[in-house]
Amino acid sequence: MSDCLFCKIAAGEIPSKKAYEDELVYAFHDIHPLRPTHVLVIPKRHIASLAQVTADDEPVLGRLLAVAARLAAENGSPDGFRSIINTGRVGGQEVAHLHLHILGGPEPVGPMVKKI
Ligand code: 5GP
Ligand code: ZN
Repeated sequence: MSDCLFCKIAAGEIPSKKAYEDELVYAFHDIHPLRPTHVLVIPKRHIASLAQVTADDEPVLGRLLAVAARLAAENGSPDGFRSIINTGRVGGQEVAHLHLHILGGPEPVGPMVKKI
């Protein structure tokens, strides 16, 4: 997708602080970290959100999760981490390119979501 921020980041057209890259996924540090560790993992190929995935996306979705623990450990969160995928309006997704948040650090991340 030519007009997608995270496609441009994956392609190196917009700078980012890279944490990992392979043939399927690209990982980089969030520009506004919410915890000492805040890494985003994205498919290199554009997928708008978890609501748009198809069976063809299963390998890349597997890779997205498979690299998470290693990225957390390598970036200051060896004792566990929180992984979040926000989807659509209700999920609070702001960037329309599927991304996995990896949040952590030395201290527990805290409650999952606030009860309403
Ligand atoms: P969402 O709310 O869509 O799940 O999360 C989008 C995330 O992308 C936010 O945490 C935001 O800080 C991050 N973000 C938005 N624009 C940029 C950018 O240009 N560079 C980086 N590294 N992160 C970004
Ligand atoms: Zn994209």
